[in-house]
Amino acid sequence: MPSPVSTFIEAAQAAGPDSIPTCPVPTLLDQTVARTPDAFALDFLGRRYTYRQLDHLVTRAARGLQTLGVEAGDRVGLCLPNTPYFPIFYFAALKLGAVIVNYNPLYVERELEFQIRDSGTTVMVTVDLAVIQGKLARAAAAAGLRKVVVCPFAAALPATKGVLFSLFKRGDVGRWRGDDLNVGYFELISDRTPPTLPKVDPRDVAVIQYTGGTTGQPKGATLTHANLSANCAQVIRHVGQITADQRIAGVLPLFHVFALTYVLNYGVAIGAELVLLPRFELAATLKTIRSRKVTNFPAVPTIYSAINNAPAKTRGDLSSLQYCISGGAPLPVEVKAKFEQLTGCTVVEGYGLSETSPVVSTNPLDRPGKPGSVGVLMVGTAVEIRDTDDPHHLLAQGEKGEISIRGPQVMRGYWNKPKETEEVFVDGALVTGDIGYMDEDGFLFLVDRKKDLILAGGYNVYPRVIEEAIYQHPAIRDVTVIGVPDAYRGEAPKAFVTMKAGQSATPEEIKAFLAEHLNKIEMPREIEIRDELPRTMIGKLSKKELVAEEAERAAAK
Ligand code: AMP
Repeated sequence: MPSPVSTFIEAAQAAGPDSIPTCPVPTLLDQTVARTPDAFALDFLGRRYTYRQLDHLVTRAARGLQTLGVEAGDRVGLCLPNTPYFPIFYFAALKLGAVIVNYNPLYVERELEFQIRDSGTTVMVTVDLAVIQGKLARAAAAAGLRKVVVCPFAAALPATKGVLFSLFKRGDVGRWRGDDLNVGYFELISDRTPPTLPKVDPRDVAVIQYTGGTTGQPKGATLTHANLSANCAQVIRHVGQITADQRIAGVLPLFHVFALTYVLNYGVAIGAELVLLPRFELAATLKTIRSRKVTNFPAVPTIYSAINNAPAKTRGDLSSLQYCISGGAPLPVEVKAKFEQLTGCTVVEGYGLSETSPVVSTNPLDRPGKPGSVGVLMVGTAVEIRDTDDPHHLLAQGEKGEISIRGPQVMRGYWNKPKETEEVFVDGALVTGDIGYMDEDGFLFLVDRKKDLILAGGYNVYPRVIEEAIYQHPAIRDVTVIGVPDAYRGEAPKAFVTMKAGQSATPEEIKAFLAEHLNKIEMPREIEIRDELPRTMIGKLSKKELVAEEAERAAAK
């Protein structure tokens, strides 16, 4: 008789294609709290919280949110850099059956406002940083938020002031007004009455994750508790044996789906300590990896590359690292090789999308992978390669076409967007806009993208968003934005513009105008003014000539 499977981890480790465990996401936390209450759950710049303490704060926050009127199905926004407040409010809201909407704190007002309206977010959780407060207050007023929970950044840190002011200037933190809209964190968690928790079904929506998808129009991928927990189980199954005392670096933002699964859900499920950093700063990150003896470090290729290029003294001894998962953009073979040579730690590349919670494939950790491949499929995941001209036609193994995906991690659809949902599923499989093929050993390779997307560092930048912002400038007649090779970010946006008759503007003036409309990553690295832009036969602006010119220019360097 096989022994009864008692926990999520055991079920995940034993998972087969048809037996992938799912659960309400907070069950991942509950099981770890029951198993190892005194193990450390979080380390935030030296301040540590055990799983028991985290659980306690989650319960208090759930009660506080309930007092604000948050109920099952309500949308709760998290506009938070990596801080303990993220896991606290993530699990608190999910326990109430509410739906998490992730916000990038770097969003400009326009993006915040759009996402609040589109998702119907009613309560937002944020921190008392001046950079966020101003734009959030304006977006909240315009889009009609009911409440903003303001968490004091400094209170999550160790008592030594030095830590705070190594990150921020005096006056940048602690800035907010107590009024009808804002409620302070300590007030929110002051009630000791236990919250009344509803029964959460794994099929309920857990997270709305915004993405440009294949078109660039932002839309919310609707991920259920089952989608997210299944992906967590798939990752556990892929990693295999879980050794004790795992410490995962949370450098990638938790509001991004990669870290949401690989750092938060997976880390909590296996009872790891999450070593959170509010932003990526090379020397500080390296110091943290060394001093906290971080064992695994999910990141994006630009971060591994920055570590490779750091002076040996800054890098120091990173031998505590056991494995690293790279995702979000192609991992150049030489970046992988150099990182492995310098640290002695294996770094494997994975592939995923917001719509798939996100992990689709990862290179093996227990045997050699294939250079340039995004790895083998997660258990229970199927990939079909479709003819780009006729998506109903499936191509044979080895042929290149559009990658489509089936599996328990695939989203149900886009939030309130039935037309876009219908378009992204072909014969029941999710089409990705990524072009690739599967080799004879089941390794997936990406070769191109159908969608107009720039991968800048770990972020997706949609040329269309930049073009729309540039068109708002009164002097601009036409604009085309493409991705150009960038030594640090992999790709960066570049804009080509023409002027209206009798009008002029310098690239600097256009950039100054764009600062209000675009975030830092979207800001074109370069704006080139031309008399004419290339067009297709029917007169549409065409990108491929500019892409070819830039590739030639980069090759000549
Ligand atoms: P997002 O939904 O914002 O997470 O973006 C997903 C997209 O990022 C995918 O459809 C790919 O185009 C791209 N992507 C993710 N991982 C990789 C990878 N390892 N190599 C190349 N592109 C990737």
